[in-house]
Amino acid sequence: MAFNTLPTTLICVPVTEPLFDNFLRAVEDATLVADAVELRGDYLTEDDPLRVIKFLSVPKNKIQKPLILTYRPREQGGQRDLKFNDRIGFWRRFGAWNAITYADLELDLVEHLVKTGLPIPWERVICSWHNFSETPDDLFELYDRMARTPAAVIKIATQANRIGDCLRIFELIEHAKGKKPVIALAMGLSGLTTRVLALSRGAMLTFGSLKRGSESASGQPTVTELRDLYRVHQLSRDSEIFGIIGKPVGHSRSPLMHNAALKALNRDGVYLPFEVDDVDSFVRDFVHPKTKKLDWNLRGLSVTIPHKLAVIPHLDYVDETAKTIGAVNTIVVKGEGLHGYNTDVIGAMKPLDEMVEVKGARVAVIGAGGSARAICHGLSQRDADVTIYARDLKKAQPLADEFKARTALLDSFEGETDVVINCTPIGMRGHSEGQSPVKAESLESVSLVYDLIYTPEETALLRDAKHVGCRTLGGLAMLVGQAAEQFRLWTGLEAPMDVMWRVVSSKSE
Ligand code: NAP
Repeated sequence: MAFNTLPTTLICVPVTEPLFDNFLRAVEDATLVADAVELRGDYLTEDDPLRVIKFLSVPKNKIQKPLILTYRPREQGGQRDLKFNDRIGFWRRFGAWNAITYADLELDLVEHLVKTGLPIPWERVICSWHNFSETPDDLFELYDRMARTPAAVIKIATQANRIGDCLRIFELIEHAKGKKPVIALAMGLSGLTTRVLALSRGAMLTFGSLKRGSESASGQPTVTELRDLYRVHQLSRDSEIFGIIGKPVGHSRSPLMHNAALKALNRDGVYLPFEVDDVDSFVRDFVHPKTKKLDWNLRGLSVTIPHKLAVIPHLDYVDETAKTIGAVNTIVVKGEGLHGYNTDVIGAMKPLDEMVEVKGARVAVIGAGGSARAICHGLSQRDADVTIYARDLKKAQPLADEFKARTALLDSFEGETDVVINCTPIGMRGHSEGQSPVKAESLESVSLVYDLIYTPEETALLRDAKHVGCRTLGGLAMLVGQAAEQFRLWTGLEAPMDVMWRVVSSKSE
């Protein structure tokens, strides 16, 4: 590779260390994992960034990757308070164009330098523009204005306040086709889709931080995530797209499980977290084959809180289980339509079926919320003898009536049952870790205890149960089971559950 010309699809790691020695160490580390390295000169607080360039220009210190030099003022997303004249002075003094592949110069500076007629090697200039509050409507006009300058590459980065803003970035990449190369991305959590898919849609590069905490902009994934989790180098415009819609989705383990499964089966696809506020416009603009504005190969979605009900009116078909549960957690794109399913029942029941004969067994379901509903449905299909234990009988009664179960107050639980299933958050990390919904001694004659909670993997309830000799089942089994069923619905393939289990299990402690 010639280092003065960039190949077309790159992950670029920005180096953002404030101290000279750390900066150089980070450059070395970035070189090992990145396709290109951005030297963020403005982050160096106690030194002259030109010293870095001088150091890297010495043959024995030369970096074998393309280098981009950036010296950004604070009001445009940089770290230094720089007056306009400081910026002009910096680039006037800069005499090492051969040491870098590109210099990133902001649009105001580019337009000024053009007027002054200074001898700038424009074939090495990225003209950049940032907006940290929104994604404006007129990006084509902006791109055209920037493309009229002599700069070789155009970079536009805007703040995504909603997932819909990503659409404008993808349209911009389309607009730039056949013109000057473009780097286009949306910042913030809602903009992640642009950072992952930009390369596959024709953008020149995407940025990935060296590690968590060294991001140069909000919403920037790590280089490892871009490379190994989302596999951005392998994606094309035809790659299958899957994802999860919800709010929040940042904590979801579904991207870990599904991307690991896609990778293990060498499937040309990626699974993304979509933080969605307005489910109606998301389905219209991104999902439904008849109305979507984005030309992408979306195949299916997981749906989580708070959209499990709200998606239903947009679906062309809803399966019986999802209708009974009253919630859709999986959407499959089929032909010109959208089909809705609920995989929680099969996900929860399959591991239970593997451990115990549920038919005729006495089962205590603790809690009467959403997951209890899926469990009660599965248990009633198997003719189990169910009692719902809840703190509020008024809430439990309708569920019991629907699935022909009994109700009892949680405090009255004394253990006369074969199976106990915890469908409350009692014992969950960040909620009430260490607590159990029932007394340890009440479990002595119970055969199996199933806790739907998966953080921690072993809850106080499961610890107590093991202690008195019960068999136990943790919530990871359901988490992986429902995801595996989603994977089967989308791809028609058996999911590699061992791979999915490994990636979530290593994250749960
Ligand atoms: P949900 O719809 O909010 O229902 C929670 C239930 O727990 C309600 O009946 C609630 O009673 C009861 N509850 C909450 N705090 C309680 C307390 N201190 N004492 C007694 N009862 C209490 O939640 P969900 O979706 O069913 O989820 C419940 C748990 O299952 C969560 O912790 C989640 O981690 C786990 N889960 C796991 C998976 C998996 O894949 N493994 C899937 C779904 C859920 P009130 O109505 O009286 O508040």
